[in-house]
Amino acid sequence: MTRYRITIDSENCALDRLCCEEAPNTFDVDEEGQTYVMDPEGDPPEYIKLAAKRCQMQAITLHDAETGEQVYPKRR
Ligand code: SF4
Repeated sequence: MTRYRITIDSENCALDRLCCEEAPNTFDVDEEGQTYVMDPEGDPPEYIKLAAKRCQMQAITLHDAETGEQVYPKRR
């Protein structure tokens, strides 16, 4: 199963919590209102990828945890 290393660019995060809706066991908002990765394996990888795709700010980057390859967004 693919595991992701997940990065959130907090400077670009709009704090709309869409990622938390898509993968609620992976993403959460802390007491200061910042989105963070609660558990990188909290949800199935397909949910995590959907969360990254749903982020309108493209603030979520996914790397394959084993190979280090950037999975999302795809490099051109
Ligand atoms: S979906 Fe993107 S912009 Fe929205 S809270 Fe998550 S990281 Fe921030």
